[in-house]
Amino acid sequence: MVQVNDNYRKLPQNYLFSEVARRVRSYREANPDADIISLGIGDVTRPLCNSVIEAMSAAVAEMGRAETFRGYAPDRGYDFLIDAIRTNDYLSRGIRVDSDEIFVNDGAKSALGHFCDILGGNNKVGICDPVYPVYIDTNVMDGRGGVLTSDGKWSDIVYIDSPAENGFIPQIPLQVPDIIYICSPNNPTGTALNGSQLKAWVDYAAEHGSLILFDAAYEAFVRTPGVPRSIYEIEGARNVAVEFRSFSKTAGFTGVRCGYTVVPKELKGRDSEGEVSLNALWNRHQSTKFNGTAYIVQRAAEAVYSPQGKKETALTVDYYMRNADTIRKGLEFAGFTVYGGVDAPYIWLKTPCGLSSWEFFDRLLDECRVVGTPGVGFGPSGEGYFRLTAFGDYDNVCRAVERIKEWKI
Ligand code: PLP
Repeated sequence: MVQVNDNYRKLPQNYLFSEVARRVRSYREANPDADIISLGIGDVTRPLCNSVIEAMSAAVAEMGRAETFRGYAPDRGYDFLIDAIRTNDYLSRGIRVDSDEIFVNDGAKSALGHFCDILGGNNKVGICDPVYPVYIDTNVMDGRGGVLTSDGKWSDIVYIDSPAENGFIPQIPLQVPDIIYICSPNNPTGTALNGSQLKAWVDYAAEHGSLILFDAAYEAFVRTPGVPRSIYEIEGARNVAVEFRSFSKTAGFTGVRCGYTVVPKELKGRDSEGEVSLNALWNRHQSTKFNGTAYIVQRAAEAVYSPQGKKETALTVDYYMRNADTIRKGLEFAGFTVYGGVDAPYIWLKTPCGLSSWEFFDRLLDECRVVGTPGVGFGPSGEGYFRLTAFGDYDNVCRAVERIKEWKI
């Protein structure tokens, strides 16, 4: 019989969202008339904008004519999209990124997971706590996790504390990681690193020879002046950081699937024979294991950068941020301690009265008929916190917030 990767056995069941669904289902069964509002949605809900739909439709028509039909896309992406990304996301903001440093893909989740393939198994990995759980799981699959201990932590992972008293900003750990995951703006805490906080990490990585994997999936939600949207706004970052971007939340592409990774040519790693370019290695990986993002999808992504596409996608992001503002202000008014919601579509609250994340979940569902996500699902330090998201319908957000304001917890 074939032998399988034993590391998969170590992964705990994906308990969080299935348990949320199970509890909501059983509440519905017991209370069939309950008007439940979800502020737990981690997916976008607004439709694609007109510019994107028109570009996709035109691309579909092209695929139906022999003269304009396209087969396999280039491994790194079509020049028209790479140029649009480079010009709009980088050059226009004074950031140098070369065309051959941009790799178009089918979204940040797969790119983040696959990037582990080109990194050695013995690297020490540093991951913020709490954070997007994919970073941990993908490294456990690759054998970098060690064993899960009784405190809910993996023995070989360096947990980078992001304490509430420091606004959930990741603090430099005692043990030096070779690979450092930074997610800013952060899912789930909704906090974003300012320039000097990010600079401290870039300098740290340069000093210790570490590689930063910077997840900027929520950069479009940054509102505060001085909060970087790209790590390459920081001097020296080209020497230490890979950046992962996505059209998922920026332009509603969660079901369309498109993102890109930037791997500067300055980045070097080491193999048994000496120094290796990470850009060359990632290029090799993509050309071997990836056959390009669909032409139709790349035309759709290009349309996000047209003048009209920019206006339309900005309106959608504004819609979500109005939700975020409504939730944050409403909860503050109700006396909760609240984080995030300013530069991110996530609101992170301290559960009151010493309630655990799950106890708060049950009471919020039972007494307000509102669903959110228990913070403990994002790492051990998420216990005692709760995540609400701004991706819902505005009227429902207002109704949910009114219920919470009237709640006598
Ligand atoms: N990175 C973070 C921090 C996320 O929260 C998510 C999705 O929720 C992703 C990446 C995945 O993005 P994509 O849809 O591009 O795979």
